Amino acid sequence: MADIPNVRLVGIDYDRQGKSHGYIGIQHSTTRSCYYWLPLPITSIRSGSGPTVLVMSGIHGDEYEGQIALSRLAAELQPTDVAGRILILPMANFPAAKAGTRTSPIDGGDLNRLFPGEANGSVTQQIAAYVEHGLMSISDFVIDLHAGGSSIMHVAAAIVVAEADALRFQQQMDLAEAFGAPYTIVYASRSQPHFGRIALTASARQGAIAIGAELGGAGSATSSSISLAEQALVRVLRRTGILAGTSDAPPPTRTQILSSDRPDTMTWAMEAGLFEPSVTVGSEVSPGDLAGRIHFVDSPGRPSAEYRFDADGVVTVARFMTQVERGDCLYRIAFKPDAHQKGHR
Ligand SMILES: [Zn+2]
Repeated sequence: MADIPNVRLVGIDYDRQGKSHGYIGIQHSTTRSCYYWLPLPITSIRSGSGPTVLVMSGIHGDEYEGQIALSRLAAELQPTDVAGRILILPMANFPAAKAGTRTSPIDGGDLNRLFPGEANGSVTQQIAAYVEHGLMSISDFVIDLHAGGSSIMHVAAAIVVAEADALRFQQQMDLAEAFGAPYTIVYASRSQPHFGRIALTASARQGAIAIGAELGGAGSATSSSISLAEQALVRVLRRTGILAGTSDAPPPTRTQILSSDRPDTMTWAMEAGLFEPSVTVGSEVSPGDLAGRIHFVDSPGRPSAEYRFDADGVVTVARFMTQVERGDCLYRIAFKPDAHQKGHR
């Protein structure tokens, strides 16, 4: 028996034909409201026969392109556009999305580190348990929209956590190709200990074909990042077969595939100070290239520390916040397949 929390479904019935908006109510007793439930907005649109597609954003509350794109989709998409069932969950970690923070202000939970969740756990654990066992488990496809959040900028990319099954991996790559972001980053699940706890691997655990996306960052969204999100979303939904009609979304950019299958592709700050970056996301770098400097403004006369890249690759993540502490990620790089095959680090 699946481990599903005792939620209230308000105004929503996933089996109902047509379009309905409602809430997933997660129980959260507070001084202000002893029988309170957190209202996670959700839209279900069902018509005809076809796959079930879960599209979600707001797993991190300070990532906005997906939330805006899914809000518009929920308002505009009609049952006549749909062949199957689409479930739209724009504020997955609702307390974090309301606060505009990565993690929940209630329990500090990072929803993308807590799957499969716990039915009787903290608020964020209960959300994780419901999303995995109540939504992913009934979905054929899952599209999980992210961005860099407040601390980093991320290249616009589809994200694939490669599945071992060749057919399922091909389906993932088909979706990423349709998504049509400038980059597709393929992660090998073995390289990241937290991958079993993220939405993409949770979706796979429930049998769904899943891809993610990173659409910008720096704690904001721009007209270009929002329009990329909206156009890519239409393209990928059409590829799943859920959209019955045609769409005027432009053809995709030919996505450049990068791999990131090792945990040592990051540059970390080793001291506290002010970070001066030397490159931006999308830059191609080589070993020895200057990555940036950390300045010790509180120690007059002390020279800044230089940081250099130690691998060939494309910068996919760059820290946006200037203040750094030891342990902060300054950069992440991924590899072009040919460079990787030659054994470069
Ligand atoms: Zn995120």
